[in-house]
Amino acid sequence: MIVLKFGGTSVGTVENMRKVADIVSNTYGVRIVVLSAMSGVTNSLQRIIDLIELGKNNDAKIEIENLNKKYLHTVYDLFGSGNRFKESSLRISYFNDVLLSFLDKDYSDQLVREILAQGELVSTYLFQTLLEENHENSKLISALDFMRIDSSGEPVLDDIGDNLFTILQSNYNVDIFITQGFICRNSNNDVDNLKRGGSDYTASLIGAALAVDEIQIWTDIDGMHNNDPRFVENTFSIEEISFDEAAELAYFGAKILHPQSIIPAKERNIPVLVKNTFNPESPGTLIHDKAKVKKIRAIAAKDNITAIKIKSYRMLMAYGFLMKIFEVFEKNETAIDMITTSEVAVSLTIDNTEKLDRIIEELQSFGNIEVETDLSIICIAGDLAQNKKGIISAIFNCIDQIPIRMISYGGSKYNLSFLVKTADKISVLNLLNDGLFSDLKKVESKKELV
Ligand code: ASP
Ligand code: MG
Repeated sequence: MIVLKFGGTSVGTVENMRKVADIVSNTYGVRIVVLSAMSGVTNSLQRIIDLIELGKNNDAKIEIENLNKKYLHTVYDLFGSGNRFKESSLRISYFNDVLLSFLDKDYSDQLVREILAQGELVSTYLFQTLLEENHENSKLISALDFMRIDSSGEPVLDDIGDNLFTILQSNYNVDIFITQGFICRNSNNDVDNLKRGGSDYTASLIGAALAVDEIQIWTDIDGMHNNDPRFVENTFSIEEISFDEAAELAYFGAKILHPQSIIPAKERNIPVLVKNTFNPESPGTLIHDKAKVKKIRAIAAKDNITAIKIKSYRMLMAYGFLMKIFEVFEKNETAIDMITTSEVAVSLTIDNTEKLDRIIEELQSFGNIEVETDLSIICIAGDLAQNKKGIISAIFNCIDQIPIRMISYGGSKYNLSFLVKTADKISVLNLLNDGLFSDLKKVESKKELV
């Protein structure tokens, strides 16, 4: 059994949907296909939500009409005419009516979740209809019937597994199951979601819950790259990578995977293969526990980082000081990414600045506070175990002209991260690429690094 997840671009046009259908048909075994909404749709749903919140229901209605037009075009391009066209057009009108009905409701968190769920419901419906047209033995199963999170938003893997098992058992003769990424039900049994980009997480959770043979994440790039291809030339796709390294990279900016999506696969030791829908022949990246050790595997950057420095002589030899600081962040539900300490100061970084004003206000009582914005975390992933010599100097020699704001090393064996001004990010990524991967380039990607 295999899970195949396709992102928004992969199902974004009829041409692409047909490519996805080919990939699914050419895969062996029982397949569970997880789909995102068509590209741009979740953003459009978010705009509808924002407009409803502002009371601009007429503008929201125009956005809904545009979405409906896009869907009707898609149905037309998929089926042209005939019964399947008529049937799908009717179904699309139904989805349109559902969206319009939200305009009559009061704005609430639950309304937001219901609206956000609409994208995946439509993309999976369309794809299932395409597979039917292709005479595949496939069935659409609703993620709302099995995907569960608890009251703190955490997936309940056992329930997900039990629910899925029951569904699969009563459909034992089906070859291909189609389901929605991202959406789920919460502890109140209401429609909810796994946060933006959460379809990867859905795929990993299903794969872990059913202990499948492999989880495939199909996207629009040839797997994970050694550096950010948007800013650096001569990047290459990584053939294989460990779960830990992939998790660090996903968290610190490699946009290709949802940060939490590695965890369920890692816990149940299920290989994750990242592939390109538009270049299926390319081997992609295999994330598994047997990846050959590489000193330096890859580099990623995460923007929109804010650093907060708390300076206080009361910290000198005092215990409990850090705990009090952390409590402020906990109370304000803001995650800390990096932290460095000296005897009289603590610097830490956050990426969610929603509660920044309150956090600063509450920290004032501990000492002098300095805030710096427009920073980027550069993350280097690899087997950077502390007893390996020369790695740190190799890294920092490449960027000796760049001012560095914070350095974090030793927290994990697989990561070194440091903080620079976002204005310096592109230079840093390029300097590191030239210095650490220079003799490698694409063809030689198998050689030991550094
Ligand atoms: N459609 C959702 C989003 O755009 C989930 C996903 O694509 O992974 O965030
Ligand atoms: Mg994605």
